[in-house]
Amino acid sequence: PVPVLAVVGRPNVGKSTLVNRIIGRREAVVEDRPGVTRDRVSYDADWSGRAFTLVDTGGWDPDARGLAERIAAQAEIAVSLADAVLFVVDATIGITDADEAVVKVLRRSGKPVVLAANKVDDQRTEAEAASLWNLGLGEPYPVSALHGRGSGDLLDAVLAAL
Ligand code: GDP
Ligand code: MG
Repeated sequence: PVPVLAVVGRPNVGKSTLVNRIIGRREAVVEDRPGVTRDRVSYDADWSGRAFTLVDTGGWDPDARGLAERIAAQAEIAVSLADAVLFVVDATIGITDADEAVVKVLRRSGKPVVLAANKVDDQRTEAEAASLWNLGLGEPYPVSALHGRGSGDLLDAVLAAL
């Protein structure tokens, strides 16, 4: 059986952009307007000759009341279906309440988590990624889903977790 990697995080952090980067195609829907991805969409992926299934998550209205709770509830479903989790945070914004809500779900799940510090488009932003050590999920992997920066190291960590 092919292992399943769930990509979770609050809206607009770049989950779908990262999924497209990993699968090498533009299939996951990326929108400047957050909340466009349907609840869960699966894609075939591979890295270094290992196949896995990537599950992109989303579909929240960012203006909805109780957004953090909704995100956490969706993450809970996706995580329960996955062997490992790729948790995406926007390093240029830092840790928000919605991020903290997802962290609680991840802790409870006991599943392996790889932390992607996204939108690290250049060297300057790397210091901001380091602040994500405070989430208590181990090493934050700085990446730019948009430009591909850091994605090789991130995927190596993902394979080690699967
Ligand atoms: P999702 O809601 O988490 O799936 O986020 P999307 O993938 O739809 O991306 C939301 C916005 O962030 C889009 O405008 C993307 O172009 C932008 N974005 C995604 N990744 C990066 C990145 O690495 N750097 C920058 N600067 N923008 C990004
Ligand atoms: Mg999306």
